[in-house]
Amino acid sequence: MKTIGVLTSGGDAPGMNAAIRAVVRAGIENGLTVYGIRRGYNGLMEDDMYQMDLRSVSDIINRGGTILYSARSKRFMTEEGMQAAVRTCREKGIDGIVVIGGDGSFRGARDLSLHGVPCIAIPGTIDNDIACCDRTIGFDTAMNTVVEMVDRIRDTTESHDRCAVVEVMGRGAGYLVLGAGIACGATSILMPEVPFDFERDVIERMKRTQRSKKVHFVIMVSEAIGGVHDMAKRIQEETGVESRATVLGHVQRGGHPTAADRILASRLGYHAVELLLAGASNRVVATQKDKILDFDIYEALNMTKSIDTNLYKMAMEISI
Ligand code: ATP
Repeated sequence: MKTIGVLTSGGDAPGMNAAIRAVVRAGIENGLTVYGIRRGYNGLMEDDMYQMDLRSVSDIINRGGTILYSARSKRFMTEEGMQAAVRTCREKGIDGIVVIGGDGSFRGARDLSLHGVPCIAIPGTIDNDIACCDRTIGFDTAMNTVVEMVDRIRDTTESHDRCAVVEVMGRGAGYLVLGAGIACGATSILMPEVPFDFERDVIERMKRTQRSKKVHFVIMVSEAIGGVHDMAKRIQEETGVESRATVLGHVQRGGHPTAADRILASRLGYHAVELLLAGASNRVVATQKDKILDFDIYEALNMTKSIDTNLYKMAMEISI
């Protein structure tokens, strides 16, 4: 192992830069040449990369986004695209690649490993929907961003005795909305993993809290459920509480990573390089109960993780 590449792929997440920094510094400190590959798998197919040095990753541990840019690539999912990527690796003498991204990016890393280019994947996504990993890079930051935004919305909701219906990201998973919903004290949390009845779980809950003299409300809804504008209208009609919908959108994907995400990204990036140096391929690095582990990518993609429904139950009991 003499030369490695690092890329970020799929949706960006705060903390990806800290992971890039760890990979570059650990690689160089261990005598490797490190290439920064731009725009995910596109950069690999198009040979868009540059050799990094210790200072290429200065002043990025605190920055959101990714200095390598990110992309989604349909071409990489074709045999022609894969062959182009393998050819670039051969021409550049790249012996291994660290892929930072979500489960789609992991599939790409698995395919590339099967084509003879050793890959190590690092979970970077705000959605926290990677089964082998307790926390993915970006989740903690995004959750704190949602809490900060909803705290602001709550201020104005309180001033006007209103109800705020807030849509929260997370793709098909409810980790972000559940965590932020607990931290914000949302009256109702709607997420894909818990079946809900709008009348019972939103309207009736609001009416019940109205009887105990509550006059302003926050309802938090996963993007997988959506429809917050219609929900706000229905709430206003059925409860008489003036209601406003907010879609938080991409604000949730940016901003300075929290300390937790910076530390997680540094640990995972460092371990990814350790694995490449040890001759490993087709592995995902992950954290479980604060321990750094690694798994076969194929096995990791087949694992399932489920929402802690006790947390949901607790939130519903104490946010009434
Ligand atoms: P996030 O969930 O945060 O958006 P992600 O990594 O899951 O991140 P995707 O858009 O699913 O994002 O995947 C990123 C890229 O990985 C795709 O554009 C594609 O180039 C590659 N990829 C996805 N699935 C496969 C696959 N089955 N085989 C090869 N490459 C894949």
